[in-house]
Amino acid sequence: MDKKMLFVYNPMAGKEQIRNKLSEIIQIFCGAGYQITIFATQSTGDAIRIVSEYGIDYDYVVCSGGDGTMNETAAGLMKLEKRPICGYIPAGTVNDFASSLKIPKTMTDAAHLIIKGSIFKCDMGKFNDKYFTYVAGFGAFTEVSYQTPQEWKNALGKAAYFVEALKHISDIKPHHMVITCDDGNSYEDTFILGLVSNSVSVAGYKAYSKKNIKMDDGKFEAIFIRNPKNPIEIQLVINSLLSKQLDAEQILYLSSSIISVSSDDEVQWTLDGEDGGIYCNVEIENLKQALPIICDESAYTEVSCKYTNI
Ligand SMILES: [Mg+2]
Repeated sequence: MDKKMLFVYNPMAGKEQIRNKLSEIIQIFCGAGYQITIFATQSTGDAIRIVSEYGIDYDYVVCSGGDGTMNETAAGLMKLEKRPICGYIPAGTVNDFASSLKIPKTMTDAAHLIIKGSIFKCDMGKFNDKYFTYVAGFGAFTEVSYQTPQEWKNALGKAAYFVEALKHISDIKPHHMVITCDDGNSYEDTFILGLVSNSVSVAGYKAYSKKNIKMDDGKFEAIFIRNPKNPIEIQLVINSLLSKQLDAEQILYLSSSIISVSSDDEVQWTLDGEDGGIYCNVEIENLKQALPIICDESAYTEVSCKYTNI
């Protein structure tokens, strides 16, 4: 029996490069015995609507586009009780989420992976009534990132990028917040940046003090940077980021399945590097192993908690 696939793609993503590849991608799927329904998104919100309305009728939901398309497709799947298997063909540059799963950069290679790859049950982030696959964040570095190219988004968290941003600290708006974790501990302070990551690294940083961070362990890794009060504290944060120790007092590092953040003022958040909306109160919940997504089997040892001795 044919396997039924819903294929959702953003024709504008990645400098419209799918136009040249679409026929080849469809041939790869048809050649492997898939019966395909194709939908080209016309605007923001289309992918989430199509996937949540029609995804239930399919065995596979494959999307092609950038961060926004992947985010919407995953969000649409979360609205379904019985979830089809998700596949992702990145258009243009590859985000941190796709590279963690070892999804190829070349579109036709990514299509081939979908027909022969392994299924990984990946954690998903729920953010109030929205979702994210790999990062939710706020702060001056994140506010600009959803308007910036993928290279910048992937650089988010890399030392040079943080340090560059800290040089412009007078432009960064601090937020007074209370952050609460699943162990009941809460942290009240003024923060300039927060990144809640469903990843093997926190925005590019491996947490060296803690081993076995995985994408299916039901836990987020998060860092929140307290507002440095003087140039010495700025330097301490920079040193901590450069040394990758994340041990400065100004850096709050958390591992938690639920993180709630309440702020006195409205905070602009980003979800998977896209505009996530403005909130005073957010509840971020890890939906353990909620997204069945096709990955390269070689990714398992890095991303799955089945391999805890690595
Ligand atoms: Mg995790």
